[in-house]
Formats: sequence, structure tokens, C-alpha cells
Amino acid sequence: MADIVIDRVVKEFGSFRALKEVSLNARDGEFVALLGPSGCGKTTLLRIIAGLETQNSGRVVIGGRDVSELPPRKRGLAMVFQNYAVFPHMTVFENVAFGLRMQKTSEAEVKRKVGRSAALLHIESYLDRYPAKLSGGQRQRVAVARALAVEPAVLLMDEPLSNLDALLRLELRTELKAVLREAGTTTIYVTHDQTEAMGLADRIAVMYGGKIEQIGTPLEVYATPGTRFVGGFLGSPPMNFIRVACSEGAARIGNITLPCPVASSEMEIGLRAEDASLAPIGSGIGFDVRVVEPMGSHLLLTGSIDGQLTRIVVPPTAKVAAGERVGLTVDPSRLTWIDGATGRAVV
Ligand code: ATP
Repeated sequence: MADIVIDRVVKEFGSFRALKEVSLNARDGEFVALLGPSGCGKTTLLRIIAGLETQNSGRVVIGGRDVSELPPRKRGLAMVFQNYAVFPHMTVFENVAFGLRMQKTSEAEVKRKVGRSAALLHIESYLDRYPAKLSGGQRQRVAVARALAVEPAVLLMDEPLSNLDALLRLELRTELKAVLREAGTTTIYVTHDQTEAMGLADRIAVMYGGKIEQIGTPLEVYATPGTRFVGGFLGSPPMNFIRVACSEGAARIGNITLPCPVASSEMEIGLRAEDASLAPIGSGIGFDVRVVEPMGSHLLLTGSIDGQLTRIVVPPTAKVAAGERVGLTVDPSRLTWIDGATGRAVV
């Protein structure tokens, strides 16, 4: 069993509190992505799990063993960090074989495991080269191959695909997911790329300001954000927020009335761009279309509801022109109601 328990971890740099009592569990074999904007504390948290940074308080438990005081090499994990350090004096083959040699693996097994890992990362053709002769993206793949070669029970990764072009990134993402699932590796993966987090993770921990705002499956954090921040951070375009006033259990939005989940308060309605559809002419919520962008698979409409910026996606063949007022229908069960004062979702 290699589950990870992070228990009320606090990290301060001088007077700056980078992590504010962060708790998080990753089950054995689970893939958890730490997702959030720059500076929210993702890397710091990963470095604490790895033992590269010491927390001010709190514990890290891996596979039932408190590793809080142990050095990195005694924590029983493999890691790939942003700077993807590879050894310059070793060939790619020896770099990938490094961990296996440390484990005194037989030569035949080293060959087999390096070969498999290299094939997965598409680096077989330069196993004889030295890192100085590789591009940044190729070196990054060597670092990932080296971590995977030892078949670790726990793998920590910090933006391991960040230096790759879009197509290779997508391909490696898919393969990484398959191989980690098959191996049953418990993975914690730092990224600021929501598509990567959504595609890879069993659960996503959305971080903001040194805290975990919400943790859940990709669908949960996307469809039922717990806070305004999470709704606005996930999704492209991000969730729309439309201010409404609730009174006597109802809110008016662009000439229609919706039942309010709470009485008499300033609320915001969170509406996903794909959760509105065009209504028959003369009905629905009035939406003033300002810009129409054909995206191939859909049209992105930017405009306003009650003067508030709103983005909607509709089928690519929809007949809509800039400058028109159209009607929108929404399914009330798909709306997120946010308390305007606290920024928290009301359920
Ligand atoms: P990024 O995606 O940009 O790497 P991140 O979410 O990984 O961001 P961290 O690198 O964990 O963020 O940093 C969290 C906060 O702690 C930032 O405000 C950063 O400036 C600060 N910080 C990190 N390391 C140190 C350090 N060694 N000394 C002082 N402040 C630090």
C-alpha cells in the first residue's frame, strides 16, 4: 500500500505563509493533480512530500509510515521536477538506468526496463547520446523515463510535460495515464494546465493562496465548483458569473425569473458557457451578442446579459450575428449559485 496522507501542513518563508494547514489524501494507486495559478503553493507542497523542503508543522505519511523527518531518498518515491535534472556525463541509456543500477537490478532486467520506459517516452533512438546533444523537451522525457523505469510505488511530478510541443504533450499525457494506471502508481502531479489536470487525474485539488479550495473528480470540480475561484479558474471559457438580487425566493435575470436557493441576498449565478442554448425567437434570457467567433467544433459568442459580460458556446451551424439580441434557455439544475459576499457556492 502506498497511499499518501498530508496532514495540516504549514510552510512559512520568513513571515510569508506559503501553505496554510493543507491536508490531502491520495489513495493507493490514485492520480491526484495539484492545480492552481502561479504562486499558490503547488511546488512547495510537492517539495515537502518529497522531503526537499521542511514544513513548519504538519505531517506527511506514505504507506502508513510517517516520513516527515526522513531525507528524500528514504521516502520510497520517485520524482520528476521542473528542472528535470539529468546527469550530463552519462548517456541517455545510463540516465534512464540510474535508479535500476542503484537497486542492483540484473543487466538483463536493466535492458528490458530501460527499453520499455524509453519506448514509452519515444527516446529509443537516442539512448547512446549525451544530454548536451538533446533539446530541452528530449531531456525532459529522459527525466520522466528515468523515474518510470524503477516502477515506483509513489511518483511525484512537477510540470513534467511543460517543455514539449502541443501534439507530443497530448500523446505523452495519454500514455502516461495508461502506464501509471496499469502499474498502480500513486501519483501527485503539479500543473497549472487545467486540460492536463482534467485529462490525467482521478481527482484534482484546486489550490489558491496556499490552500486547497476544492478537491474532487474532474467532473465534480468542473460542474459543481465549491467557490467562485474554482468556477472561474476551470473551463475555457471560464464560468460566467451574473450578479442577481434574490428577493422573496426569486431572482430576475434578463426578463425571466429563477427560484433562488436562499432568501434575499446578493447572489451570483455561475453559468457554464455550454449550459445555455438558443431559445426560440422572443423567448428566454435576453443575450446581446457582441462578437461571434467560429471555433470549428462550436461558435463562441461573447456578449452580455443585463449588461454583464457573458460567453456562450453554441453549435457551429447556429444562425447568430454580432449585434443581435437572442434568447437563451438554461437548465436551472445546472446553475451554480454563489454567495456574493463569501464567494462560496450555495448548495
Ligand atoms: P508556479 O506554478 O509558479 O511554480 P507554485 O504554485 O508552484 O507556482 P510555489 O513555487 O509553491 O508556487 O510558491 C508558493 C509561494 O511561496 C510563492 O509566493 C513563492 O514566491 C513563495 N516561495 C516559494 N519558495 C520560496 C523560497 N524558497 N523563499 C521564499 N519564498 C518562496
